[in-house]
Amino acid sequence: MTTATHEETLGFQTEVKQLLHLMIHSLYSNREIFLREMISNAADACDKLRYAALDNDALYEDDSELRIEIEHDPAAGTVTVRDNGIGMNRAEVIENLGTIARSGTAEFLKQLSGEQQKDAKLIGQFGVGFYSGFIVADDITVRTRKAGTPVGEGVEWHSKGEGEFTVADVERPAHGTEIVLHLKENAREFADDFRLQSLVRKYSDHIDVPVRMPRVETDKDEDGKPVEGSEKTVWETVNEATALWVRPKSEISDDEYKAFYKHVAHDFADPLTWSHNKVEGKLEYVSLLYVPGRAPFDLYERDGARGVKLYVQRVFIMDDAEQFLPLYLRFIKGVLDTRELSLNVSRELLQQDPKVEKIKSALTKRALDMLGKLAKDKEAYQGFWNAFGSVLKEGPAEDFANRDKIAGLLRFSTTHTDSATQDQSLADYVGRMKEGQGKIYYIVADSFNAAKSSPHLEIFRKKGIEVLLLHDRIDEWLMSHLTEFDGKGFVDVAKGDLDLGEVEGEEEKKAQEETAKAKEALVKRVKEALGEQTQEVRVTHRLIDSPACVVLPEHEMGYQMRRIMEAAGQPLPEVKPILELNPAHPLVERLESADGDAFTDLAHVLLDQAIIAEGGHLDDPAAYVKRLNALLSA
Ligand code: ADP
Ligand code: MG
Repeated sequence: MTTATHEETLGFQTEVKQLLHLMIHSLYSNREIFLREMISNAADACDKLRYAALDNDALYEDDSELRIEIEHDPAAGTVTVRDNGIGMNRAEVIENLGTIARSGTAEFLKQLSGEQQKDAKLIGQFGVGFYSGFIVADDITVRTRKAGTPVGEGVEWHSKGEGEFTVADVERPAHGTEIVLHLKENAREFADDFRLQSLVRKYSDHIDVPVRMPRVETDKDEDGKPVEGSEKTVWETVNEATALWVRPKSEISDDEYKAFYKHVAHDFADPLTWSHNKVEGKLEYVSLLYVPGRAPFDLYERDGARGVKLYVQRVFIMDDAEQFLPLYLRFIKGVLDTRELSLNVSRELLQQDPKVEKIKSALTKRALDMLGKLAKDKEAYQGFWNAFGSVLKEGPAEDFANRDKIAGLLRFSTTHTDSATQDQSLADYVGRMKEGQGKIYYIVADSFNAAKSSPHLEIFRKKGIEVLLLHDRIDEWLMSHLTEFDGKGFVDVAKGDLDLGEVEGEEEKKAQEETAKAKEALVKRVKEALGEQTQEVRVTHRLIDSPACVVLPEHEMGYQMRRIMEAAGQPLPEVKPILELNPAHPLVERLESADGDAFTDLAHVLLDQAIIAEGGHLDDPAAYVKRLNALLSA
């Protein structure tokens, strides 16, 4: 036995303790994932050594045949996972197996509820891989040595998963890592040859490193009886051991694609769809891109994981290479393998390489095409949209060249269905446009209900003209970058003059002009009464049930965007609204026949109500209440 020196006992980081507690006490379903996580780490470690050895062959220490070995001992109740990958030094062991370094951990832990099914999924999603060992083990020993360091610098880590762990220096002839899991009484089923083999096949067929398991062979005598003392152990490769993406598409089953996704994306659930492409010629690469079935917890975090796993000629280069996809496609996961880049490419070099831009635009197109195909399956696409729609909405602003393609992938709520579910495409809308309607109308509000019941929609509802109901935070930003779809411009119904185009006949337009003339005196009086509070007062035909509404000038920033910017501390110049009055409304008729204080009060109340209906804030709410009360008690 090796002797351990310099032994220290250390406490796990708080987050790890919480996590361990949860795994030990509430995760009983899907326990088998521990093996996937151990193999996945071992495969990553082999990838890392292969990469590091590109510059320094000596790191292999004359053992360049990278492999993973899995052994079990039913009597002792142990399963051992061993690799001859990069290994870890003492500091790395303490860091990697004592903390959760990844950002967003606290956020992740907040989401854990103690409900098994849900939490198991979240844990898979977060990829807290190593600690999952404690789902099945009550005692774990890790022995490791970093490739290229002296034999005496091996490290032994040991823990019962109860809040602390020990580390000690040990002699270790082989580089790489060995993890011995001592199984809990109720998890002994995993110390079984058949069970382990089938799990390896299930989770690791696609991994490019061979996973081997020992088999005992015995010589047979002439009668076919085993010869005593002839037992010898041979190692058998259990997995397919070829990188999945290099195999021909026709030979890869859906299950294999799905298993590979789980490895790449650290996800527990199946992907929605994938696209596997081998491109030869001017630009050579293989890409395998996936659309996940649900949003990761860090989708909106600035430093959230994104990008593809990058390989150069089958050699793993880096995780999360974000240079190959635009930000608005940050939910896409997968692998890019290319011979266009050199093996010693770094993140910094990637930023300067013009080939990266070319691959990026090719992958962007692939990803958008994949979404286009997915959209043919309405239900699946809806799942995608609900999870990632608001990210895709960043597209038109970020990616001018693909604006039309992206526009075709957008989904909205509209007055056609009056449902908060965003499930109508612009093509659907255009297909339902009225004769003579040249524009696509939309309204932006803070919530679906505010959009749906906005006074601005009254005339549109009456005429049966569909309006997009936009209620995502990003929508106004989106619309400022979408100028047209299918040759039709977009019009914000709460801005500028109302023009329904040819949907309105000449007669109607003439009648409107006459009303406007007839109300000139009223308009003038209202404007005087409101003084500085509006920039214009006019009569409108856009209202049916409401007495008044406020409108912004056509090129003015909308209310939603203003509120977002103000909340972010951005000072904005004041904008005065245009007040529009509904000449046919009884309150406006009453206004016309009022005078003195009653007139002034009513005019103010109409303006303030219109602002409230828009989701806006009153400058002086007490004055509004006072005026309203005066009118009510008159
Ligand atoms: P992740 O794999 O997502 O980084 P894990 O919890 O699975 O998270 O592993 C934590 C870290 O521990 C890894 O990133 C790696 O640095 C280290 N590690 C785990 N297993 C091994 C191994 N077999 N060889 C080398 N390093 C390992
Ligand atoms: Mg891992």
